[in-house]
Amino acid sequence: MVKETEYYDLLNISPNANQQEIKKAYRKLAVKYHPDKNQGDKDAEEKFKKLSEAHEVLSDDEKRSLYDQFGKEGLSSNNKNFSGNPFSFFNQYGNVNKERTTEDIQYVSEVSLEELYKGVTKKIKVTRNIICSKCKGNGLKEDAKENVCMDCNGSGVKIQVIKQGSFVQQIQTTCSKCKGKGKNIHKNDECTMCIGKKVVSDIQILEIIVKKGMSNGEYILFKEMSNQEPGCKTGNLIFVIKEKVHSIFKRVGDHLFMNYDLPLLSALTEFTLNIKHLNEDYITIYNKGIVKPDEFNVVNELGMSSIGNLYIKFNIVFPDKITDSSITLLKQCLPSQNDIQKSVDKVISDKRILECKAVSKNVIEKIVEQENNKRHNHQNINNQEGAQCRQQ
Ligand SMILES: [Zn+2]
Ligand SMILES: [Zn+2]
Repeated sequence: MVKETEYYDLLNISPNANQQEIKKAYRKLAVKYHPDKNQGDKDAEEKFKKLSEAHEVLSDDEKRSLYDQFGKEGLSSNNKNFSGNPFSFFNQYGNVNKERTTEDIQYVSEVSLEELYKGVTKKIKVTRNIICSKCKGNGLKEDAKENVCMDCNGSGVKIQVIKQGSFVQQIQTTCSKCKGKGKNIHKNDECTMCIGKKVVSDIQILEIIVKKGMSNGEYILFKEMSNQEPGCKTGNLIFVIKEKVHSIFKRVGDHLFMNYDLPLLSALTEFTLNIKHLNEDYITIYNKGIVKPDEFNVVNELGMSSIGNLYIKFNIVFPDKITDSSITLLKQCLPSQNDIQKSVDKVISDKRILECKAVSKNVIEKIVEQENNKRHNHQNINNQEGAQCRQQ
């Protein structure tokens, strides 16, 4: 589930769209709303800007993943969760730093509700690139030097000339051999440890301290622990907390919620409920008195923290059958329909006594949906007729 869909809606695509679909959708709309085609049209200009913004975020896997998880807020540096500007692309956005920063690495760490309740330290294996210690990141053997790239004569670019009749076109491309740097490392000059790559893969075990009470979406930041690259600042390593679904409790801030099936007899008399709390203690809850359907009961200070409460919602389980002798007994002790509704439901005539049967919730939902669709279609027909009248 994504947090918000605005960017996807702008491009008329689903949040599951792949990069190809995003590109295609953007290209189509960008052509339509391009300012060259809509000169003086402020709305089109605004739309074009928004489309570009959506495309910029969704076409970048890192930005897209932040947007999916945190919405637009996750992309802005003003968000309280992201104070301290941990994401390197914010810097790229604002051109604050001329020096390039390597991309942040983001891990999602699944944490159980019990672990969030008590706090936990997790050990996580992290693999990243670090600058080669032998060559200090130049990729060369001791005393060796980089050679001028023979493919581009050190310019870093290649020029291709295409002739079409009298028309001559020059295309400039980045040299693939030196990747635009103009220099190469000769095979014999490569550092033996990184084989000229300047970086080596490194495995580290990191301790992630999940503090007591942390919640879904919060993160733990390891500054400058992303991939290292020569001549670049190192980005951050981010562990985002993902709260695992609990079999009994649902967390709402400091409070806990749970559902409980309560037999009708217990709902009318008393009940004892045993639960294992997140603090691992077994707790017994006792109540005497009537519990009504969909009612909540509260146990103070038994929530996610000492200031939170535990709220229990009761689903009252009715029996499927009841014997005649039980009916007689129940009639003696429970108020009758006549006691509650007085004369309204008296039998008026024997001939008009009709039967009623139980209907499942699914059947009711289907009926409501069908009727709503019918009404919607009817309104559409009316609208069309209205439009034709006006035209005449
Ligand atoms: Zn090396
Ligand atoms: Zn080259």
